[in-house]
Amino acid sequence: MTTASRTARAAQAEGGANTAASAQRVTKTYGAGETRVTALDAVDVDIALGRFTAIMGPSGSGKSTLMHCLAGLDTVTSGQIWIGATEVTGLKDKELTRLRRDKVGFVFQAFNLLPTLSALENITLPMDIAGRKPDQAWLDQVVSTVGLAERLGHRPAQLSGGQQQRVAVARALASRPEIIFADEPTGNLDSRAGAEILTFLRRSVDELGQTIVMVTHDPVAASHADRVLYLADGRIVDDMSDPTADSVLERMRRFDSKRTS
Ligand code: ADP
Repeated sequence: MTTASRTARAAQAEGGANTAASAQRVTKTYGAGETRVTALDAVDVDIALGRFTAIMGPSGSGKSTLMHCLAGLDTVTSGQIWIGATEVTGLKDKELTRLRRDKVGFVFQAFNLLPTLSALENITLPMDIAGRKPDQAWLDQVVSTVGLAERLGHRPAQLSGGQQQRVAVARALASRPEIIFADEPTGNLDSRAGAEILTFLRRSVDELGQTIVMVTHDPVAASHADRVLYLADGRIVDDMSDPTADSVLERMRRFDSKRTS
């Protein structure tokens, strides 16, 4: 084992109890030679358990790449990714598929619901595919937390955009994943429906103990998080606790003025 990975393991063991996921010296490059792009440049970050973390930064700063690497959806060029006590970067394809299925939940900008299934069938679909029985008490709690009890028999086309995204959030929560990654979850919603989804994400952290990582461009969305990480040129350049919409906006303005000056 290298010194770096020994150190990483020691850090994981120490911080492990409070860390849902971490990136350690993670670099991701695309292409080669003159067209080489460094999307992530030696990123170190710990994502706290049972907390809501937002990732912000200008377009092209590496937000999606960081999220995809943390979620085991993309490979890293160097460094390590951990989810809980599992080193994701050390897994073979089959183990990686199992980890994503059992430990990770996803919410995308496009709701990705199956149109022929009811809301309830969409929520339990990943577990049905995995051959797992949902825990009924937990499912009831999830459905009531996201306020869907009256709509479970409806098909996606019979639901508003906000309600469809609530189904997608419930689907992510239903299997009790260790961590949920949300990629611009309010990007397709009007501000009222967006606010509802953010409230549900917040409640799932506060009431269900869920860990959430959300990529967003929106300072109001980020203000629902406990912490905001700011990326620029593949590096974490700031880290804010207990954000408000005003403090996030102010921080973004300072970035913009630095970038254009
Ligand atoms: P963000 O999500 O902040 O907009 P990304 O993570 O998508 O940023 O991209 C970071 C950088 O990596 C950008 O310069 C982007 O052009 C580049 N990049 C992302 N995906 C690829 C890819 N598949 N091939 C080549 N370059 C990529």
